[in-house]
Amino acid sequence: MGREQKKRSLPLGLIIAASAVGLVLIAYIFFRPHELLAEETTAQKTRLLMDTVVDVRVDAPNAAQLVDEAFKVMEELEQTLSRFVETSEVAQINQQAGTWVQVSPTTIELIATGMRMGELSQGAFDVTIGAVLDLWGFGSDTRQVPVAAELEAALATVDYRQVELDVQNSRVRIPADTILDLGGIAKGYVVQKAAELLRGANVSRAIINAGGDISVIGQRPDGQPWRVGVQDPAEPASLRWILALDDLSVVTSGDYQRYFEQDGERWHHIIDPKSGYPARGLQSVTVVGPDIVVCDAAATAIFVRGWEAGQRLVLELEGIEAILVSGGEEWISPGLQDKIISR
Ligand code: AMP
Ligand code: MG
Repeated sequence: MGREQKKRSLPLGLIIAASAVGLVLIAYIFFRPHELLAEETTAQKTRLLMDTVVDVRVDAPNAAQLVDEAFKVMEELEQTLSRFVETSEVAQINQQAGTWVQVSPTTIELIATGMRMGELSQGAFDVTIGAVLDLWGFGSDTRQVPVAAELEAALATVDYRQVELDVQNSRVRIPADTILDLGGIAKGYVVQKAAELLRGANVSRAIINAGGDISVIGQRPDGQPWRVGVQDPAEPASLRWILALDDLSVVTSGDYQRYFEQDGERWHHIIDPKSGYPARGLQSVTVVGPDIVVCDAAATAIFVRGWEAGQRLVLELEGIEAILVSGGEEWISPGLQDKIISR
């Protein structure tokens, strides 16, 4: 008898509990906290950072403020990571080459990732390429084809394996004469940190584009994946592919992004550390993946490796997909085919 009573009282308890939850929900719907009622707005700004056009678009109740905060994060990182900012940590490492230099964990983290990408690409990606870039004049206003002997001397300073990291004490040491350059990876890092800030603020959707390093958050207002255009390296003003991206990043390295012409040739800024000359063979590499820092370094590395070795590297690196363009030919990695929605 007692048992039966217990059986009957259980559903009643449930009904009471469910009603209570229902009441709370109804109350919540009608008397939502103020910030939930705040209307979602869209804000967008474009600025020049890291010598690159950076564009941030955010949808959120406080979108304008979040765009400003995202730029603040990126500006601070530029002050830390650009070797062209005299007071930056990377500039300090270069100025004091040969001795240990105290830096922040941010700088250590990025150099470590750069070195790992050096290993994974068997030296195609090399963060110590600075002296060679300087001879070509990338990073200054006077660009020229270097004298062969000078190039050879500069190349002797290029070897990412000589960079010493003392993670415990947050110190870095590079050999005397070596010049550290994080240009092939820093844009991705800066975009990643801005995206982290926006995710932390629960924005519904956002797009950050730093000169072709693009990270998206959420989906378009109509619930469809973001569509990201990839430039045609032969005609950079037009888009050759449209990719549908859900919370993924896309990075493009191309010979049209930074170059000068001399003796009827195009000399661009992605250098093959084996020769000291701009890497030949590809016109552009677009990498898609979840980690924009890896995508950024991988795009540069694949570009250096060229058509065949570049394709092999795409297949070797976990989690990334890519489009390679060489002359009239294009290669699209198998996992990317279904993300290309128009061409
Ligand atoms: P990205 O636009 O990401 O392809 O990077 C190009 C930039 O990376 C150049 O402007 C240089 O600062 C740097 N860079 C050029 N060649 C290399 C290389 N072989 N390894 C690493 N960084 C490089
Ligand atoms: Mg890169």
